Amino acid sequence: MLKIEQQVSLQPFNTLALSSFAENFCRVGSENELREALAWAHQHRLPVTLLGGGSNVVLARDLSGLVVHMAIPGIELMSEDQDRRVVRVGAGENWHQLVLNTISQGWFGLENLSLIPGLVGAAPIQNIGAYGIELSQRFLSLEAIHLATGEQVVMDASDCQFGYRDSVFKHSGRDLYAITAITLALSSKMELCLEYPALQKAVERIGASELTPKQVSDVVCAVRRSKLPDPKDTPNAGSFFKNPVISAERAEYLHQQHPDLVTYHQADGREKLAAGWLVEQTGWKGVMQQGVGTYQDQSIVLVNCGGTATALLELASDIQASVASKFGISLEIEPRVYR
Ligand code: FAD
Ligand code: NAP
Repeated sequence: MLKIEQQVSLQPFNTLALSSFAENFCRVGSENELREALAWAHQHRLPVTLLGGGSNVVLARDLSGLVVHMAIPGIELMSEDQDRRVVRVGAGENWHQLVLNTISQGWFGLENLSLIPGLVGAAPIQNIGAYGIELSQRFLSLEAIHLATGEQVVMDASDCQFGYRDSVFKHSGRDLYAITAITLALSSKMELCLEYPALQKAVERIGASELTPKQVSDVVCAVRRSKLPDPKDTPNAGSFFKNPVISAERAEYLHQQHPDLVTYHQADGREKLAAGWLVEQTGWKGVMQQGVGTYQDQSIVLVNCGGTATALLELASDIQASVASKFGISLEIEPRVYR
């Protein structure tokens, strides 16, 4: 039966470990429980906030209404067709455990996305990506409940409007749906994607002539552990800023001003800049103030070492001002901020 608790601390439910309380909180382990929770919130005329692993949120206030922790489990092979494996996964599955599970079943394609924190249901929100692969490349569809009407919807990739760390759920679809499951198209064939430089370098060091997807996953985990802080030890929300994507003309102009600027060409002709580099160039690398700071090995990651959300957002705003002043670039915050 659905259990709704009052005044629940969300500190253990967000990887920045910010202090925040949910006025009402419940964990839903099935679609029926989710419907029950939504009905309760409607009956009490309360807003609903969905929470997965809390690894891409900045909880800068208490959350009034009902906070629903999405815990719907399930990993199911839906069909096998030559090399293709269609897998349906519940929103509450842990993303990294899903990656390991699929690899052990011989269903490949997620290995580059190893060790991304959080739960499966949040993966489409920002079209999670790392080391040259993004969710949209493996995505077939998702199932969701429309929060206001309770209607079940199925969305394919074009409905989700996936972009670079972006989707419809950050725009017109924001806060409208609870994603209950996603369906992925994986492969029984080992088609590894090793082009990402950090991955390539690590693989070269191993020197194996033919890698398995499990080895690639292990390499990704090792690279990540070597340069990203583990939220358990150093609370953080991963990249605090999105990598800016700018026009080729603007990139050319910036190159003239800053010859060591690194840009990555995008399929649409635009150029992507590394936000971490911009932050570093403005002198913020490894800076700590009021218990918050930038991580010494990767300036795009802001860390909370006993500070507050106010201090964190102040630091972010100071960094944004420095980057705007030096490069004329407006850095966008990546995690969802609840102010
Ligand atoms: P939460 O933080 O709980 O929620 C994020 C947003 O999604 C919230 O607005 C929430 O309301 C909404 N949401 C959550 N679940 C649902 C649902 N079922 N239905 C509808 N809305 C929902 N991201 C990357 O893309 N690539 C990376 O390599 C990466 N590395 C990271 C490394 C670290 C150390 C950390 C801390 C974060 C990293 N992230 C990365 C960010 C984060 O892990 C991902 O965005 C992840 O998908 C968030 O999942 P979550 O369950 O924690 O979402
Ligand atoms: P990194 O390897 O130090 O690279 C810095 C940035 O340069 C990355 O953001 C990456 O963009 C870009 N980049 C590097 N080589 C590239 C190439 N060949 N083509 C296109 N872009 C390139 O990055 P990192 O911080 O260690 O992170 C490694 C990977 O994990 C990245 O893919 C990153 O996105 C992902 N990650 C994401 C988060 C998050 O919260 N969103 C947190 C940690 C790590 P991309 O980001 O587009 O790959």
